Amino acid sequence: MRVVQKYGGTSVGSVERIRAVAQRCLATQRRGHEVVVIVSAMAGETNRLLARARAIAPEPDERECGVIAATGEQVSVGLLALAIQALGGKAQSFLGHQVRVLTDSAFARARIRDVDGARITRALSEGTIAIVAGFQGTDEHGNITTLGRGGSDTSGVAVAAALKADVCEIYTDVDGVYTADPSVCPDARKIERISDEEMLELASLGAKVLQIRSVELGMKHGVRIHVRSSFNDNPGTWVVPEEGPMEEVLVAGVTCARDEAKITVLDVPDLPGVAAAMFKPLAEVGVVVDTLVQNLGADGRADVTFTVPRGDLKRAVATLKAECRDLVKGGVQADDSYAKVSVVGVGMRSHAGVATRMFELLAAEGINIAMISTSEIKISCVIEAKYAELAVRILHAGFGLGQPPAGTRPKAARPRRATPRARSRAPR
Ligand code: ASP
Ligand code: MG
Repeated sequence: MRVVQKYGGTSVGSVERIRAVAQRCLATQRRGHEVVVIVSAMAGETNRLLARARAIAPEPDERECGVIAATGEQVSVGLLALAIQALGGKAQSFLGHQVRVLTDSAFARARIRDVDGARITRALSEGTIAIVAGFQGTDEHGNITTLGRGGSDTSGVAVAAALKADVCEIYTDVDGVYTADPSVCPDARKIERISDEEMLELASLGAKVLQIRSVELGMKHGVRIHVRSSFNDNPGTWVVPEEGPMEEVLVAGVTCARDEAKITVLDVPDLPGVAAAMFKPLAEVGVVVDTLVQNLGADGRADVTFTVPRGDLKRAVATLKAECRDLVKGGVQADDSYAKVSVVGVGMRSHAGVATRMFELLAAEGINIAMISTSEIKISCVIEAKYAELAVRILHAGFGLGQPPAGTRPKAARPRRATPRARSRAPR
């Protein structure tokens, strides 16, 4: 088999961890497989590098940021190659431009256009383990580009697709994809198989385990993705195409994006072209607008409310004030302390009532819903950020997703109460 293994930052976070990864790569090769490895920067390294860039320039140029940040992965590939060699194996490192991971020129969030597998397959045919730097590529002019935070996942899946690998193993520090973040819900369960569409929703709604684009790319090219831990040999979570009822569950997981900001533009005319005039300048400066509602007033006026990532709030407000001077005359309200909790599951396609249940569960804890958005397989509620964890816990429990406490019967038919910690009520 041809196996692509991607190791995240914590998996290569120290010299000892890099040795452990080297051993795992060699063990895989000894089982008769061709092994291609994608690595991230050592844990914390990308943040450290970007912090240095920002210490020099508060809003650093994105091309130069990429030049700096990409060094994190350059160090990792070199160290891992040395570690494999030290154990008697054959390994060679490759940077993005050496493989040629060709991307567009959107420096800090480049998209992969093509991966040339020739140098990697040559290495493989010589029995060498090919180690490819994640997160980085090169554009058609030879500039270094980076794929956005978490981008090594996408590098892994793109290389797996280009090499027609039999599997793309994504190694991380947790055992797989969980029904909720285990640090928030201690009784969260590892999901054995999750449909690619559910995974895509979870990734876009705040689950950090896979970069969204890696899931998209995997779906497009039919890459078999196995998310698992580099700290043990437990089977992880397989991301698979939807195949009828998955685990016979309505809701596969609960997730939360904590860094939402809410903007309300008050009293805009209710006329064709107004939304376009407001959102086009935002798109042009790269602000991704999420949940969006418009309240119609009686007199042909409307209030438009939407969320943006917290880090983009200032830029979004400044852009609106500069580009839509007439439209924002009625006032712009901005609040940066919101979160979006979501429940995701393909079971919702064929079952009504999930939304109602979600609203009831939140209401029972006195959590106010500011905005709601839905798709065929997810329901999201924007709530105050301070209730985010409470909301995740009560939804996780309310949809019966937790592991039954030891010594009790399997999953209760009736939704169980929230964990004691979750029981504190939000004031109305
Ligand atoms: N090192 C990069 C980051 O921290 C890419 C990755 O780890 O996936 O975002
Ligand atoms: Mg990651």
